[in-house]
Amino acid sequence: MFGTGLIKGLGVTLKHFVDTFKDDSDSVPSRYEGSKTLGNNRRIIDQPITQDGLLTIQYPEEKRLLPEAFRYIPMLIWDTARNEDRCTACGICAKVCPPQCIWIVRDSDENGKPVTRPSEFYIDAAVCMSCSFCVEFCPFDAIKMNHDYELAVYDRYPQLVYDLAELTVPVEYYAALWPRQYAQEEEKRRQEEAEKAAQEAAKAKAAEAKAAAKAAAPAPERAPQDAEALKKKAQERAAAAKSKAVSSADGDSEDDAAARREALKKKAQERAAARSGDTNGDPAPAEAPVAQAAEAGSAEAAEVDPAQARRDELKRKAQEKAKQRKSESED
Ligand code: SF4
Ligand code: SF4
Repeated sequence: MFGTGLIKGLGVTLKHFVDTFKDDSDSVPSRYEGSKTLGNNRRIIDQPITQDGLLTIQYPEEKRLLPEAFRYIPMLIWDTARNEDRCTACGICAKVCPPQCIWIVRDSDENGKPVTRPSEFYIDAAVCMSCSFCVEFCPFDAIKMNHDYELAVYDRYPQLVYDLAELTVPVEYYAALWPRQYAQEEEKRRQEEAEKAAQEAAKAKAAEAKAAAKAAAPAPERAPQDAEALKKKAQERAAAAKSKAVSSADGDSEDDAAARREALKKKAQERAAARSGDTNGDPAPAEAPVAQAAEAGSAEAAEVDPAQARRDELKRKAQEKAKQRKSESED
């Protein structure tokens, strides 16, 4: 018959409608049990999403209690105990953010030196895709995901670009939104600090024990014969060093000086012999002084200028010739 399927379908819908109310009255006596009532007829309903029965609530007067892991837009944590931002402006979150919607400017001191805190921090909430990468990678637990999802505004810019003041929340707010995670993080931090303190204490104790052992240990005693041998060795070394210093200050040794004198003497004799060959057997005028100087062993005398000796020789010959001419003219 025409329309039978339609009637069947409507019957299924009606059954589900009735069952919903039946389940709701059977398994959930009151959806409002355990809910928080706020002022102005507002209510927070704590109803697990897996429950049977009615799930519809009267938003915005009624809101569901969000699970802890719910995430929307990041928030920055202000450490109330230390009275400072947890953020050090390291920039890791900005680097890992997939849509690149984080901008950070690091602060600087009065001398222009960068310091570990942000002077500006922006997140474009219109671009953020709530992936939570920034939270995962932050090494200082300084950025966490906020539960606040009511962000509707009339203008996207600049209202959806959140600055440092808008993003910052006290750590207590984070602890209230994420109680389990906050407790785990605090426990981990306490353990790390305790471990660090224990390590430092152990280090200090070891250093103290080492210093005490060093102070208490007697100085090593040396055998008398060893001490004597060492003393002798040191004296020998000192004497060798002294003689070396004297020798270098005085120049060559005695033997070297004698050999040098001998060589100079020989050289002077050779020069004298060469000159006597030049003057046809006449005795070399420079031979006497050169030989004399060589005999005396004086290095300066051995170095008589041969040109000067030659001049003396010519002068002597000229005087003899002048004398001879004078005696001839007198005859
Ligand atoms: S929020 Fe974390 S990761 Fe991002 S700049 Fe601050 S300290 Fe670095
Ligand atoms: S939640 Fe994801 S998209 Fe949003 S700021 Fe963090 S990293 Fe970027």
